[in-house]
Amino acid sequence: MCIDFHTHAFPDHLAATAIPYLEKEGNIQARLDGTTTDLLRSMDRAGIDKSVLCSIATRPEQFDAILAWSGAIRSERLVPLPSVHPESETLTEQIRKVADAGFVGIKLHPYYQQFTMDEERIFPLYEALIRHNLLLVIHTGYDIAFPRTPLCTPSRILAVSERFPDLLLITTHLGGWDDWDEVERLLIGKPIHMEISFALDFLEPEQARRMLSAHPSDYLLFGSDSPWADQGESLGMLRALNLPDGLIRKITRHNAETLLTRVGR
Ligand SMILES: [Zn+2]
Repeated sequence: MCIDFHTHAFPDHLAATAIPYLEKEGNIQARLDGTTTDLLRSMDRAGIDKSVLCSIATRPEQFDAILAWSGAIRSERLVPLPSVHPESETLTEQIRKVADAGFVGIKLHPYYQQFTMDEERIFPLYEALIRHNLLLVIHTGYDIAFPRTPLCTPSRILAVSERFPDLLLITTHLGGWDDWDEVERLLIGKPIHMEISFALDFLEPEQARRMLSAHPSDYLLFGSDSPWADQGESLGMLRALNLPDGLIRKITRHNAETLLTRVGR
């Protein structure tokens, strides 16, 4: 059994427009049609039991619709993370609603939501997440669809994790997309959760192996970023690194199970 900690899907009526739009923005080809039905088919093919499904509120007023949809698709196999927008005037109230509805956490994306990870404006949000024992999965590193503004760099991740040691922070893309030398310099070896999507296909296998071997083994999680990558191929890239079996089992399953049972109430 495997758990994929980073996937996306959209409500059926939006998928057909969202996918081509995002393909164009990111200059990237989706591997699925963007529906949960297609994601579940992909999970069956790849031998993935559970997927954490990340939504991103690009405007404050999307909160309620995303929360409702997340509730509608939640199942044994799909673990939705709703999203709040940092500009919302009722952020802490919204975090309480997320917790009351029994979700395990939220997803944020500094580029789509126009904030810097360690700016003070966001701190009440981090404090609310800690109060409710919720996970924060946050896009980290640069983004394929945006100019290289340093919104969520390894040094900002370090600042946030030091200021909020109780925040259940999950960085994506092995600590920061396309900034891996800096991840190695500042974050590898520290107790910071890293999901590994969109990293193994960009890194030299030697650097990937070195980073995954040097990081605390309880803090690594498998993720694919499906539909922007294929879940089966992503698992294949991880397995091709020939890491010890015990470490692979932690990355693909045990660490995610532990985190998912630790959160919420
Ligand atoms: Zn993603």
